[in-house]
Amino acid sequence: MYREAIEMAEMKQETTNKPEPTPVTTEVSILDKLKEIVGDERVSDSELERVVYSGDPSSLPQYHYRWKGKYLADYVVRVENVNEIQEVLKVAHQHKLPIIPRGGASSCMGSSSPTHGGISLDMKTMDKVIEINKKSMFVRVEPGVTFERLGNELEKEGLTLGIYPSSAKSAVIGGWIACGGRGGIGTPFYGSLREHTTSLSVMRSDGKLQTVEGNDIDLFLQSYGILGIIVEATLKVHEIPSGYKTFSYCFHDLERLCISMMEMAKLEKKPLYLNIADSELQKYSNPMEKGRYVLTVTYIDEPDFLPLSELESITGNYDGTYLGDEFSEKDWDLRYDVEFNPKEHTETLMFQEFWMPIDKVYEMLSSYESYRESHKIPALWFGMLGTPEEMRLELMAMIDAEHYLKFIASKGILHKMMKKAIKLGGGPYTIGLQNSIYMSRAYPDRLSRMKEAKAKWDPEGVMNPDKVTDCMTSFRRIDFLFLLATAFRRLSRYVGK
Ligand SMILES: Cc1cc2nc3c(=O)[nH]c(=O)nc-3n(C[C@H](O)[C@H](O)[C@H](O)COP(=O)(O)OP(=O)(O)OC[C@H]3O[C@@H](n4cnc5c(N)ncnc54)[C@H](O)[C@@H]3O)c2cc1C
Repeated sequence: MYREAIEMAEMKQETTNKPEPTPVTTEVSILDKLKEIVGDERVSDSELERVVYSGDPSSLPQYHYRWKGKYLADYVVRVENVNEIQEVLKVAHQHKLPIIPRGGASSCMGSSSPTHGGISLDMKTMDKVIEINKKSMFVRVEPGVTFERLGNELEKEGLTLGIYPSSAKSAVIGGWIACGGRGGIGTPFYGSLREHTTSLSVMRSDGKLQTVEGNDIDLFLQSYGILGIIVEATLKVHEIPSGYKTFSYCFHDLERLCISMMEMAKLEKKPLYLNIADSELQKYSNPMEKGRYVLTVTYIDEPDFLPLSELESITGNYDGTYLGDEFSEKDWDLRYDVEFNPKEHTETLMFQEFWMPIDKVYEMLSSYESYRESHKIPALWFGMLGTPEEMRLELMAMIDAEHYLKFIASKGILHKMMKKAIKLGGGPYTIGLQNSIYMSRAYPDRLSRMKEAKAKWDPEGVMNPDKVTDCMTSFRRIDFLFLLATAFRRLSRYVGK
């Protein structure tokens, strides 16, 4: 037995010592295939680029990614036309690689972050303004054009899209369409992005190009790249107004601020922009006295659109004090920065966005303010009117993500706030990766429509996995985790991390 074993081992050694014939392989690597499609310059598998293309400004700490499976993209590809996308899709199918479309990555919430590796498809290099039609008042664009550049191009023709997210400098058209474009600057007056979108051209995951019109457009607004790749959009445009007029008011009382906001929203003359903020947020851009609230409202500066006497009467009734022309104009100029300015003063700006009926905003904010007191959260908040009935509400906390307990505990409070929002008839604003767990509770009808559409448009599940229709974890699991985390909140006051 023993001898046999030695002989066997010797035989094995003999065979392993023989030089292996060099294998003849014709296999081309995935990287080379991608380079063949877009050229060496527009594809990368470098770790740095893969990391940069896999995150977003949500500033999630590393441990968060443990729950996210394979969170790094394998390849980054910057596409310039539909033929290239078609070829990249073939490679993705061949090698079972997910495709994650990516615009400015400003939607946060992990919307354009991979969960199973794959190809991060940078759409910003597809950024042509194809046609501006002044006669029929529309513009035809590629998805990667930023709102800022489109605005500049339209302005040369005396036109405007009228609506844009306050992230307009980095966000691109395709990204906002895929996120829904419900609430932004201009939407209370001109209507949402859905009301501006007349047609889309979408590349299905099987590489077929399809025109989407009518009710089917609804599916792509808030589709988060899970159905297909938006490669062109036709959008309505408006004539540029002659000017804008902004008024900022200060309030001492939260309820009075919220009532004033509601009354202004309901006036016949609609604002272009209406935001509310607490002094904690304001102090990083246009500071005001601590403990107060500010309401800033902008109208088209023409008599037909400016409700001067109504504003006077509302603010008079609810003790709002006009903060003067200088403060007001500065607040309007700061519209692109106000939400993110605090980020420069903290390790991590944690936030959650809500889409709330305006008559529930007071309840949400007063509840968040009581958590600020009772749980000592470095909380601040901001709200932007999206439609005359709904507000995009952003609750934030300035926290060091390395302080695990404090970070998770504050996230737990935001989770509690989300449960409250859903009970009150609201829900998450951006869905992306992190908020997909709330879909079944907040938007069950939308979820079943999207599941049907997913099966039809992307049966093989190539497009942006684990967003909207699928979820890496369950609501119950997260709920339990955050319950524990908030219980640890008090403990976190006494321990380091
Ligand atoms: C400071 C700040 C202010 C903001 N203000 C607003 C605001 O006023 N209103 C508002 O609604 N949001 C706002 N947001 C959220 C965000 O900016 C918007 O949703 C924005 O439009 C996202 O565009 P993006 O180009 O960054 O898209 P990304 O974040 O890159 O992508 C968003 C989603 O769209 C998908 N996607 C991207 N391109 C395509 C494509 N061509 N085809 C298919 N899917 C695609 C991605 O996979 C992802 O799921 C703000 C964010 C920040 C950081």
